[in-house]
Amino acid sequence: MVSKFSAPRGTADILPLTIPLWQNIEYKARSVFHLYGYKEIRTPYFEELDLFCRSMGESSDVVRKQMLHLTSQQVEDVPQEEKKGLTLRPEGTASVIRSYIENNLDKQEGLSKLFYIGPMFRGERPQKGRLRQFHQIGAEAIGPESCDPLLDAEIIALSTQILNELGLKSYQLKINSLGTSEDKQMFSRLLREQLNPLRSSLCQDCQVRFELNILRVLDCKNKSCQSLIKGLNLTDAYLSEESRQYFLEVRKALDNLKISYEISLQLVRGLDYYTHTVFEISHSQLGSQDALGAGGRYNNLVGDLGGPSVDAVGFALGIERIILAMPEDQNKPVSGSIESFLIVLDDKAIERAFCLLQDLRKERISCEMSFKPSSLKSQMRLANKLQAQYVLILGEEELTQNKISLKEMKTGQQEKIGLSEIISVLKNKKKRIDSCCGHTPAVN
Ligand code: AMP
Repeated sequence: MVSKFSAPRGTADILPLTIPLWQNIEYKARSVFHLYGYKEIRTPYFEELDLFCRSMGESSDVVRKQMLHLTSQQVEDVPQEEKKGLTLRPEGTASVIRSYIENNLDKQEGLSKLFYIGPMFRGERPQKGRLRQFHQIGAEAIGPESCDPLLDAEIIALSTQILNELGLKSYQLKINSLGTSEDKQMFSRLLREQLNPLRSSLCQDCQVRFELNILRVLDCKNKSCQSLIKGLNLTDAYLSEESRQYFLEVRKALDNLKISYEISLQLVRGLDYYTHTVFEISHSQLGSQDALGAGGRYNNLVGDLGGPSVDAVGFALGIERIILAMPEDQNKPVSGSIESFLIVLDDKAIERAFCLLQDLRKERISCEMSFKPSSLKSQMRLANKLQAQYVLILGEEELTQNKISLKEMKTGQQEKIGLSEIISVLKNKKKRIDSCCGHTPAVN
């Protein structure tokens, strides 16, 4: 027996019945980005490994444990610098910043507001809400004028507006400030002092984190680490006066926008590049993988990657988790309908019908037909299955009269129409439906 293939572990096919749901999410996200002046950017699905080591940090869990490498060495004409290794992108920020620098986007606009929608790849242990290929909706605002508390508040407002427009309720927004790089170092020092006596009680991973990136201990999901962390006396004493003021203004702006949030001193985000504001949006319905999205400010990354010294802020939401948290009536698979189905009852009518089928499609009226004429009953069954709004019947009688029968499926009304008029009749009906329903395209 020939063995069957299955999708790689931690990946999922998105099947036709679910595609409208994905298109709707992408369409709504795009329309919200448009409202906030963000433009789409598409970067490659793989990059040089070094880009992520330098941006996310060699000590981040993602770089240490989750990168899915490509064996580029086998490709003959790979440039020397890429021989170090290519890897599937685990997130979008580093790629967007690489592109911003490489394409001199700083010379084109003062503030670059960029968004992306696409797959990301991480070699994680798959579970509910955690995949190896997943999809993110993300944005980055980069530029010389971009270190402004209002921009931090705006990006939080933007991410929550996307969730609101998708019908998500009861999500929680947590925010914190890491301050400047110097403040962050102070935070690490204070945390090290408190954790040092408890070090041997930390989980294996946190023992490594203690050495490499101590703030990451605060992110640990391990139950015993969690209870240790709860017992710590975390304060924002590491923040400089300036950073404290900055965070106060972010909060004031969120208060003015009536966006509710909770301050979590434990929220640090595990990537090296964050400074100042960090935030995370979680949803209780998601179980252990409860983060819908996260983001924050990263003022040093563009410079660190060889670009101009400009500031930036961004976020990413996970589409699979959005779907899991959507109200049930909105995340069901839906089968789309077609406008018309052409029933042919006579072999002699096939050629004529096939030309009409193409003419209808050229006029942007969706239409299907069965190429092997069968009984009226079985073709009607097919039309019903495809949820056709109209059925067009071409039999011997119609052919001799140079007409076609048009049946409206909803009302059952049927009439004969001249073959030369059918396209304009259907176009008029479509125009009437579109204008009364205010149809929007599924994909923008
Ligand atoms: P992160 O870059 O880890 O903060 O991820 C941002 C968002 O992407 C998370 O809040 C999730 O919604 C989503 N996400 C991250 N990793 C995964 C994964 N392995 N599977 C599914 N969604 C993910």
